[in-house]
Amino acid sequence: MNPLAQIVRATRPIYRKLSTSAPVAAAAKPIPTTGLCFELDDEQKALQDLARKFTREEIIPVAAQYDKSGEYPWPIVKKAWEVGLMNGHIPEHCGGVGGLGVFEECLVGEEFAYGCSGIATAVGGTNLGQTPVIIAGNKEQQKKYLGRLIDEPIVAAYCVTEPGAGSDVAGAKTKAEKKGDEWILNGQKMWITNGGVANWYFVLARTNPDPKCPASKAFTGFIVEREWPGVIPGRKEQNMGQRASDTRGITFEDVRIPKENVLIGEGAGFKIAMGAFDKTRPPVASGATGLAQRALDEATKYSLERKTFGVPIAKHQAVAFMLADMATGVETARLAWMRAAWLVDHGKKNTVAASVAKLHASEVANKAATDAVQIFGGNGFNTAYPVEKLMRDAKIYQIYEGTSQIQRLIISREILTAAKESN
Ligand SMILES: Cc1cc2nc3c(=O)[nH]c(=O)nc-3n(C[C@H](O)[C@H](O)[C@H](O)COP(=O)(O)OP(=O)(O)OC[C@H]3O[C@@H](n4cnc5c(N)ncnc54)[C@H](O)[C@@H]3O)c2cc1C
Repeated sequence: MNPLAQIVRATRPIYRKLSTSAPVAAAAKPIPTTGLCFELDDEQKALQDLARKFTREEIIPVAAQYDKSGEYPWPIVKKAWEVGLMNGHIPEHCGGVGGLGVFEECLVGEEFAYGCSGIATAVGGTNLGQTPVIIAGNKEQQKKYLGRLIDEPIVAAYCVTEPGAGSDVAGAKTKAEKKGDEWILNGQKMWITNGGVANWYFVLARTNPDPKCPASKAFTGFIVEREWPGVIPGRKEQNMGQRASDTRGITFEDVRIPKENVLIGEGAGFKIAMGAFDKTRPPVASGATGLAQRALDEATKYSLERKTFGVPIAKHQAVAFMLADMATGVETARLAWMRAAWLVDHGKKNTVAASVAKLHASEVANKAATDAVQIFGGNGFNTAYPVEKLMRDAKIYQIYEGTSQIQRLIISREILTAAKESN
């Protein structure tokens, strides 16, 4: 039994078993009756300890090497899979331990990103691919595709963005046409995390060619296998940061998809693709928090060692205040992802909270990494020290899973709608 299964078995009475069988049903944990609580329970503490130990022993020692080589960290993915630090949310009917929520995924993600956010994205990217199947897959689809991820250390990917459409998902041109019992998929996706290494993909395609058809009805979500004829991943992209993560374009040429691989039904894809973000943005925020915490820890340590004008630089108020600002950011970013994850795990609407967490944590990560480089002075600009990597790695948090501008769009739209409704 892997360490995660042992933790779950020892502490399981804490959780009610979650049902994930209903399409797009929020798996809800019972709401505690004891009011607000800032303490992790025993299962969560044990999981966090396990992830922290894994990060210290397996990720930190090799982070710089993977950053340099840009290789996909298969050995780490395999070890994380073996000890049960992946796929904890996959339901029991698919062979998973079941019942771990977004909150637990975030706890692990924050630890991994502390070690290397590129490796964290490589390991965590599979959850983005799986989420549409978790929220919208029927039992057979879940058993077949989520079950595979339990049987073998393999990963999934989420294919929505295209060369011409990222923020504007409704502008996606990849299309699928129905021919008998099959769909024929044609088009091109871009910037797909795990694009070259995934076993299967969630793919969003336009199935109603009428330009007047609203996005909410024009797209369908499919599960597409990597090995099917006509699935052609492109070259690995050379990115600024998070270089261990595999990002690629993927071309689909006359790919035949059986009707069994449609999620929910024709026209439901846009809602599924967007709905996934309520569960996947909190983990992005937790990763950004982990990176910010690392920047704070590295900068604090360095500021106590490095001396100028006869004193450690931490004694200069200008430096100490940068640390204070970093700590404030880390604390509030963590609270933000915790709340967003808690809400969705309890079946409550968290769209705004998820966007707030993703926006805030990604801004905090970028500020903290930039300030850490500043505190390191010239050394901060050099690859021999850890903080230049943090600065390169941090940038993507403001871009993927919806840019910071798009998060502001979502938050402001919700505020304004609520204000209009209350008038
Ligand atoms: C490393 C990496 C990994 C990724 N992984 C995945 C993945 O696994 N799956 C996937 O589907 N996608 C993935 N993406 C794609 C990512 O989600 C998009 O890049 C992102 O949503 C932005 O889209 P875009 O690049 O087309 O930029 P654009 O949409 O062209 O935006 C360009 C700029 O305009 C701004 N902008 C656009 N519209 C508005 C607006 N209405 N108001 C204000 N500002 C606006 C944006 O904020 C941005 O600053 C990944 C991207 C990268 C770089």
